[in-house]
Amino acid sequence: MKMTQTAVPFTKANVARCMCPRCPVQGKSSCVEGKMARLKDALSQSPLKREDIPHVYCGSGTAFCTDLDFNKTCICGSCPVFAEFKLASGQPVGFYCRDGMAKL
Ligand code: SF4
Ligand code: SF4
Repeated sequence: MKMTQTAVPFTKANVARCMCPRCPVQGKSSCVEGKMARLKDALSQSPLKREDIPHVYCGSGTAFCTDLDFNKTCICGSCPVFAEFKLASGQPVGFYCRDGMAKL
């Protein structure tokens, strides 16, 4: 199967649906916590700046924060974006914050 670039748009709608803020991989990250505290401002930017928004790594690529805990479990499988874009059949499957954006 030929892999192409990701089909997941880095949009406010997908940020709102993304489960990453509830994920234990990010749960203890003070870097993510800081970005979440400024999220409202970050969402008022156009276009969105991926370095300011710790969500939708499947569409934007690896995390800018470096204090994530990859020993914890990725919860992308419970996400409506994951289901809509059929990311289970792409590569990588989950851990987009570590391994980069989804390719379908
Ligand atoms: S991509 Fe997966 S592992 Fe990374 S923060 Fe989101 S849900 Fe967690
Ligand atoms: S599939 Fe994972 S990275 Fe993509 S929007 Fe859902 S929770 Fe976020």
